[in-house]
Amino acid sequence: MSLSFSLSEEQEALRQLAHEFAENEIRPVAAYHDRTGEFAWDVLRKAHELGLMNTHIPEDCGGLALSNVDGLLIAEELAWGCSGIGTAIEANGLAQAPVILGASDKLKKKYLAPMTEELKLCAYAVTEPEAGSDVQGMKTTAVRKGDRFILNGNKMWITNAGVADWYFVVALTDPEKKARGGMTAFIVEREWPGVTVGKKEDNLGQRASDTRAITFEDVEVPAENVVGVEGDGWKLAMAAFDHTRPAVANAAVGVARAAMEYAMQYATERKTFGKPIAGHQSIAFMIAEMAMNIEAGRLLCWQAADLKDRGKRNTMQSSFAKAFCADMAMKVCTDAVQIFGGYGYSREYPVEKLMRDAKIFQIYEGTSQIQRLIISRELFVRGR
Ligand SMILES: Cc1cc2nc3c(=O)[nH]c(=O)nc-3n(C[C@H](O)[C@H](O)[C@H](O)COP(=O)(O)OP(=O)(O)OC[C@H]3O[C@@H](n4cnc5c(N)ncnc54)[C@H](O)[C@@H]3O)c2cc1C
Repeated sequence: MSLSFSLSEEQEALRQLAHEFAENEIRPVAAYHDRTGEFAWDVLRKAHELGLMNTHIPEDCGGLALSNVDGLLIAEELAWGCSGIGTAIEANGLAQAPVILGASDKLKKKYLAPMTEELKLCAYAVTEPEAGSDVQGMKTTAVRKGDRFILNGNKMWITNAGVADWYFVVALTDPEKKARGGMTAFIVEREWPGVTVGKKEDNLGQRASDTRAITFEDVEVPAENVVGVEGDGWKLAMAAFDHTRPAVANAAVGVARAAMEYAMQYATERKTFGKPIAGHQSIAFMIAEMAMNIEAGRLLCWQAADLKDRGKRNTMQSSFAKAFCADMAMKVCTDAVQIFGGYGYSREYPVEKLMRDAKIFQIYEGTSQIQRLIISRELFVRGR
C-alpha cells in the first residue's frame, strides 16, 4: 500500500480559500498593521465570516470540527499573508484546544458555541513574568472558597489578551504538588472584577498581534468554570500543544515560503557582473536550500497533525515540526534579506518584516531549546 501525501478535494479547496483570503485581505494591509501595531479587526471579521477561524470547535457547539491537518493548511496560508495577523486569527485555537479536550459540555456550550456565531476572541494565559519555559515555576494561585476560587497572580506575554473576551488560565491550587495534580485550569472572563490588562507590548515582529500582561487580583471564579477537574491544569495546558504546535510550525513554513518567493523574484531581476544574481551559484544554491527545507518542514508538520488525527501520540513529532520549522524559517528569512543585499535591510522591501516576524516562532509555544528538551525526553525516557 502506498503512503499518500495528497490532499482531498475539500482540503485543496480549503487551502485555496485561505490562500485567496491571505492574498486579497491580509497582504494589502500587512505593512500598515506592522507599522502601526493596530489590531486588524476588519480582517478578523472577514476571516470569521469565511469560516477560517475557530475551525476545531465541535459540531455540537455549532463548529466545523475540522481536523488538525485541515487547520494547518489554513495556518500556512494566513502566515504567508502576514504571520502577525495570522497569529491574531489563530490564537483562538490555542485557548480553545484545552477547553475542547477537557471542559464539561456546559462550559463548552457557554464559551465555544457563541464564538461560531459572532467574532469573539479568547487567549491562552499560562506564561508568567518569571515562568515561561518552566511552567511549573508559576506563582498564580487559586484558593477554593465554597463554590468559588479566588485567583491572584500575573500572566505575561499573552497573545490577544487585550482583545479577548475570556482567558484559559492555569493556576496553582496545590503549590506543593504543582504538575502532579496541583495545577488547575479555569475560564476567566476579561470583564470580571479584579482582572486588569496591561499595555500592548512593543514587539520586534508580528506587530499586528496583541501581546499583553494580565493581572488577577482577588478574582472570584465560579467552581463551574474549572476546565476538566481540579488538578488537571498542567495536563490540559500541555496536551493542547499536541494539537497546536503542528499548525504553528506550519505557519513558520508560510513565512519561509513568502520569503523564498520574494527572494526568487528579486534574484531574477537584480543584476550584478552582467547577469541576474540567480545566475550566481551561491545565490541559486541558497534558494535551493530554502526550497528543500521548506518542503521538509511542511512534511514534518503534516506528519505530526496526521498522527493526532489518527488518534496516535504525536508529542515528539510536534516538537520535531516546531523546532525544525521555527529554526528553518529564521534561516530562510535571514538568507532572503542577504539575497536582497542592502535593500533587504530596508523597510521599503518586504523581507526585513519577515525576518522580524520569523523570530517569534523560536520562542512562543515552547522555545526551540524546549522542543529539543521534549524530543530528548521522549527518546530517553519514554522510548520511541
Ligand atoms: C509575542 C509572544 C507571544 C506569546 N504568547 C503567549 C500566549 O499566548 N500564552 C502564553 O501563555 N505564553 C505566551 N508567550 C510566552 C512564551 O511561550 C514564552 O516567552 C516562552 O515559553 C519562553 O519563556 P520565557 O520568555 O520566560 O523565557 P525563559 O523560559 O526564561 O527562557 C530564556 C532562555 O532560556 C532557554 N531555556 C530555558 N530553560 C531551558 C532549559 N531547561 N534548557 C535549555 N534552555 C532553556 C530558553 O529556550 C530561552 O532561550 C508569548 C511570548 C511572546 C514573546
